[in-house]
Amino acid sequence: MNSQEFREAAKAAIDDITKYYDNVGSQKVLSDVTPGYLRPLLPPSAPIKGESWEAIHADIESKILPGITHWASPRFMAFFPCSSSFPAALGEMYSNTFSGAHFNWICSPVVTELETIVMDWLAQAFGLPECYLSGGSTHGGGVIHGSASEAILTVMCAARDKYLAAVTKDLPDGEEKEETLWTYRSKLVALGSAGSHSSTKKAAQVLGVRFAAIPVTEEEGFSLTGAAVSKTVADLRSRGLHPFYLTATMGTTDVCAVDDFADIAEALAPTANTDQDIWVHVDAAYAGSALLLEENQTLTPPMAHFHSFNFNPHKWLLTTFDCSAVWVRRRAWLIESLSIKPPYLRNQYSDNELVTDYRDWQIPLGRRFRSLKLWFVLRSYGIEGLQNHIRNGIALGESLQAKIESRPDLFTVFTPARFGLVTLRVKGTDEADINARTEALYESINGTGEFYLTSTVVNGKFAIRVCTGVERVREEHVQQLFDEFVARTKINVNSK
Ligand code: PLP
Repeated sequence: MNSQEFREAAKAAIDDITKYYDNVGSQKVLSDVTPGYLRPLLPPSAPIKGESWEAIHADIESKILPGITHWASPRFMAFFPCSSSFPAALGEMYSNTFSGAHFNWICSPVVTELETIVMDWLAQAFGLPECYLSGGSTHGGGVIHGSASEAILTVMCAARDKYLAAVTKDLPDGEEKEETLWTYRSKLVALGSAGSHSSTKKAAQVLGVRFAAIPVTEEEGFSLTGAAVSKTVADLRSRGLHPFYLTATMGTTDVCAVDDFADIAEALAPTANTDQDIWVHVDAAYAGSALLLEENQTLTPPMAHFHSFNFNPHKWLLTTFDCSAVWVRRRAWLIESLSIKPPYLRNQYSDNELVTDYRDWQIPLGRRFRSLKLWFVLRSYGIEGLQNHIRNGIALGESLQAKIESRPDLFTVFTPARFGLVTLRVKGTDEADINARTEALYESINGTGEFYLTSTVVNGKFAIRVCTGVERVREEHVQQLFDEFVARTKINVNSK
């Protein structure tokens, strides 16, 4: 494809993409293909000779679109959203144009410098404590990773090495210290709550450390408390184990619970006579975007006592996948754990410590120019535009909650609307009956393909999750969903 052919193909592609977004609301949200649908539609091996763009383009409509689940649809209320927006799409186009591995500052200075600036802008807009700013008093700062799972694995790795360095700091270097380090390694425990996303457990699995989930209760709104953390830490220590890391969550995946940060900070306050400082990471993958609203910024002061924080602009902040923003209170923790200096990566700027090399803040070496799309989004919408988007998602969740509460004969709100996520259950005679009826309603709604919802089971209770964070969701879609709930619940009850 030469540049003239590219120009024509790209213009046509933009028309296609615009049409897709204009019509996405009228498509069935769920794809109805069956597993393995694609293989019979494609040749058994790659073409030997190049094909025309016309041939390739035609396959978008006939082969690709049928297998797409429409995450941009206003009737996509499953999981948490995965954003897209026109400014972010343009950012991706330019980022692809400047394709490179961008691991050191010298590899494209703007990739590093824009990232640092945009991360500072966001930290300020969120009201994060100043220790997370690149120019803050503790030399912290932000970096963009691909996913929250990657962020959690990375900070857990830094937490492990920080902990091991602290508990062995008085031992002279040598074989004995090495042996002691390995003994400690076998006793490390990463903690999360029962509501923490599975990525914390997976990170522990990858790093070869133990994992313990701290229970949460319905009475406490499924929020992790300082008392529960203290109890687990004391139990583990009494068994000779070393808890070294905790994920605290703002907006758990199942019910959007927010852990009690102030209480946890108090419970884990380091004392002068211990090296056993537990790294606390706040995972705000979805709900973190709500920190743009001043009324939620009361959550951030305790984070000055924690070690790191992440949220995914690709979930709720209109920035195309992938983009996970991570901040640490002291960047040296990441660098000490992850820095590598083979001769082929050296250059005068890095050697003289004049620049940030983000390769030392992450697990992969190469990195994408992700800050460009985030910069475009922040500038196109402005903080106010983004606040309006977040407020819309929150208000629609509250609207659905009010509708559910208007039919106490049919439903109960399991957890109230928090950051655009409501969970509900169908009324029934006992727990088993409620679970069965709720699951039947859930299957029935998803079976139509018109709405896409997800469910959860918390402490044995089956609940339907509805998330109203997708940008195109409006009151009419929430009303339609509620009408479906009512109609299908009546059918279920009558048919029993
Ligand atoms: N943390 C929370 C609270 C989540 O809800 C999710 C996914 O929904 C994740 C982490 C994992 O996100 P990612 O797909 O970016 O790894």
